[in-house]
Amino acid sequence: MSDLYELLGVSQDASDDDIKRAYRRQARAHHPDTGGDAEEFKAVTHAFQVLSDPQKRARYDRFGDDGTPQGRGSGDPFGFGGGFGGINDVIDAFFGAGFSGRSTGGPRRAQPGRDVLVTVELTLEDVVEGVEREIEVDVARRCDDCGGVGSADGSAPERCSECGGAGQVQRVVRTAFGQLATAEPCASCRGAGRAVSDPCPRCAGEGRRQVHRTLSVPIPPGLEDGDRIPVRGEGEAGRQGAPEGDLYVQVRVAPHEVFDRDGRDLVAEVTVPVTQAALGGTVRVPTVDGEDVEVPVPAGTQPGDVLTVRRGGVPVRGGGRRGDLHLVTRVEVPTGLDAEQRELLGRLAEVRGEPLASSGRGLFTRLRSAFTR
Ligand SMILES: [Zn+2]
Ligand SMILES: [Zn+2]
Repeated sequence: MSDLYELLGVSQDASDDDIKRAYRRQARAHHPDTGGDAEEFKAVTHAFQVLSDPQKRARYDRFGDDGTPQGRGSGDPFGFGGGFGGINDVIDAFFGAGFSGRSTGGPRRAQPGRDVLVTVELTLEDVVEGVEREIEVDVARRCDDCGGVGSADGSAPERCSECGGAGQVQRVVRTAFGQLATAEPCASCRGAGRAVSDPCPRCAGEGRRQVHRTLSVPIPPGLEDGDRIPVRGEGEAGRQGAPEGDLYVQVRVAPHEVFDRDGRDLVAEVTVPVTQAALGGTVRVPTVDGEDVEVPVPAGTQPGDVLTVRRGGVPVRGGGRRGDLHLVTRVEVPTGLDAEQRELLGRLAEVRGEPLASSGRGLFTRLRSAFTR
């Protein structure tokens, strides 16, 4: 039989408070609700039941009698057969509502309103520049008529008569330890513990009402798909003057028809004729800024070679140094040759010693890394 003090992890001279604290910690760690082992949970609960009762504790200290009929591990001496009850019900039942730290709906005057999420769609151009967006949102805001108090005459809410101001009412639940009283929020005051006697007719005593709003939200440059911009205090108003929640603007970045985004860099494909790839030249390409740029194509450019336009990408989040624009070249082989063109190309093949029928192992090469990336 293990030592009950050891089980709880306290010394023999532990105070009642030490024992309560230790049990709360152990029960959390071992309750099956939180992934613990049921046997361990039974053991620490039993240790607590003995050590938290002055008479049982004295008996245990003197005689080592922990009150177990045939020792632990045989059958179900504590009647756990019917399940444990939820961890929070168990802890609240031992220590009083709210001890478990879960929300019991007790009086919390300052419970803020909920946060609100809206989504905006941006183009890649918006991401480069940053943009100001009008956001439309339906949300509960503080009632103008009563200034958020909720009463018609402006008087402050008073103690709720249903729950006596506690904000919660007792409820009896069945657990492994028999019937336990637990608390749930008062339906009349919705857990606030206070109510107005003469409700504001505009908001029915809520102190807030649903409105349609248009807000102008600055969107900084460089954001990525899924980023959220917090707008403090622009969410739902709390009940009867409690603080507002926040508004979050979530960004969706629409795919661009030309540019793919790779972090700060942009990537696009450009087509150059085979003659230009061989001889060198320039291509004019559009950029995400809306201005065309002239990009040199070096002589001997191969398919898949990358031409880079410095600072042609997008800024980092919040604005700043921009990434680059990478142009992956696609070399276009001419088709539909007329007689003159065929003759010219034939002449080129002849001069370069490139027979039109070729063979040999030298024709095979490894795939170029630029092509496979
Ligand atoms: Zn009102
Ligand atoms: Zn109430």
